[in-house]
Amino acid sequence: MASKRFLTLAAASVALGLVSVSADAQRTQPAPTSPRIYIFDNGAISGLDPALFNFKREELKEVDFVNRSYLVVHPRGTLMFDAGAVADSHFKDDGSPVVEGIMSATKPLLPQLAAAGYAPQDITYFALSHFHSDHTANANAFASATWIVQKAERDFMFADSPQGIIQPASYSALRSADTKLLDNEDFDVFGDGSVVVMATPGHTPGHQVVAVKLANRGTVVLGGDLYHYPEERTTGRIPTFEFDAEQSKISRARVERYLAESKATLWIEHDIPTHAALPQAPEYVD
Ligand SMILES: [Zn+2]
Repeated sequence: MASKRFLTLAAASVALGLVSVSADAQRTQPAPTSPRIYIFDNGAISGLDPALFNFKREELKEVDFVNRSYLVVHPRGTLMFDAGAVADSHFKDDGSPVVEGIMSATKPLLPQLAAAGYAPQDITYFALSHFHSDHTANANAFASATWIVQKAERDFMFADSPQGIIQPASYSALRSADTKLLDNEDFDVFGDGSVVVMATPGHTPGHQVVAVKLANRGTVVLGGDLYHYPEERTTGRIPTFEFDAEQSKISRARVERYLAESKATLWIEHDIPTHAALPQAPEYVD
């Protein structure tokens, strides 16, 4: 029985492999046999006030942030998660760094994506952890993908005059994108449980994280802004500017349970030490 089931699964995999051959023809990169994650350098944020996050300076190892985005490549397609803090169009031809207030960046996003072997049209799915402008800068570039978004987040983003840390022009093209609209629910992106968008509201109305099962590294959770500093995990402190702090606590508890049960690693998107220990695109983790 077990072997018959295995054979059926193997036959299904072969069939899927054949299907993906034609889709892959336009790609420079062949589909991998197991998920991988590329990490893109979208610069840094410096000069933050720790009080915004309910900390004193001496309570934090690192106050500054890095900005990162991720491409998850699965045998059946790709998922781009977040889109950087500085728009590629703000870079000059001379390649000099861009400084915008407390944000800075040395590399535009799409050339990093290209170096990994992908163009925006190769992206099957696009998801934002949330709408804050340090995550959405190049979102319009991914409007040809299917946008995975929670209804509460989308409603806020396309409200008449959304308030807060938000740049509607950076994501306006998503309004007409093919959309997988979720109602405070998780989504198994490729149908095999290996890449799951998890609803984690609180920081914003429809904040999301992504759990990725990697063959070598184990399960990784791309944490968005569920936390900003590792010290938030140990102290339970919540930033001052959450959309709903009580929801944030519930979402954090849920993710912590998941991390413990799946022996998963959390990557806090803004955390300097986490990303200093990880390779950047065009290298990848798998
Ligand atoms: Zn945020």
